[in-house]
Amino acid sequence: MSADAKMQGKGKTGNAGKPLMTVENLSAGYGGEQVLREISFEVRRAEIVALVGSNGAGKTTTLRALSRVIGSTGTVTFDGRTTSAMSPEDVFGIGLVQVPEGRQLFDRMTVEDNLLMGAFRRNDKGEVARDLERMYAMFPRLGERRRQLAGSMSGGEQQMCAMARGLMAKPVLLMIDEMSLGLAPVVVDQLMQVLGAIRDEGVTVLLVEQDVHLALSGADRGYVMETGRIVHEGAAADLIDDPEVRRAYLGF
Ligand code: ATP
Repeated sequence: MSADAKMQGKGKTGNAGKPLMTVENLSAGYGGEQVLREISFEVRRAEIVALVGSNGAGKTTTLRALSRVIGSTGTVTFDGRTTSAMSPEDVFGIGLVQVPEGRQLFDRMTVEDNLLMGAFRRNDKGEVARDLERMYAMFPRLGERRRQLAGSMSGGEQQMCAMARGLMAKPVLLMIDEMSLGLAPVVVDQLMQVLGAIRDEGVTVLLVEQDVHLALSGADRGYVMETGRIVHEGAAADLIDDPEVRRAYLGF
């Protein structure tokens, strides 16, 4: 089944499969050094898109440019709006939410207070309380540890907390940077299952990963980056079967 056909039945929005974010000729860098070289890609509603590639390929730089933390050229259209002139707060406000590499939790705050930080721009208090309970249902470990300091938890629990904090912002697109880094395979499996559940509820996910096999195994579509360019794209299942991708990234 094609990724398109697969997406028709997914998501509660009824818009599954329609374009959510279109990135055209995005370039960005640091100081005088160009890192992203006119990359173009698309994220459709209620799908998991994997952006994969080796260390230094430019994946995090792509997320920083999309979050407007660094400047860029090119055009990004998100949910019908062009984000080029927006601040990081503005893009967060329209539902483009990033879960950063290394989690970046507030270590000395409780799990619950970290989750509430994700909802700091929301005014719907009753709904926030319900969403907290939804997070504890989705990540039971967090429910058990809701009064514990975030910094005292295991790496896997901290990653759950970072993802739940992102979800508390009510994202339209959740962008997750290196979700699996340093975590045990059993924990990574759990997190991938949660991503599938989130996607099926209509939240779109952009998963940035060095672990190419893992990300493509859980994604609907994928893009492979090398030195600031996209060099392969397609349905995730097709990319896993692509001889060049297999040789370069999968080792078989
Ligand atoms: P990783 O998996 O290591 O995060 P990546 O694919 O996300 O890799 P980036 O972090 O986007 O890659 O880095 C791309 C290039 O940009 C690298 O050459 C890196 O050295 C450079 N770079 C990243 N951050 C900065 C920065 N703050 N200042 C200068 N150069 C940077």
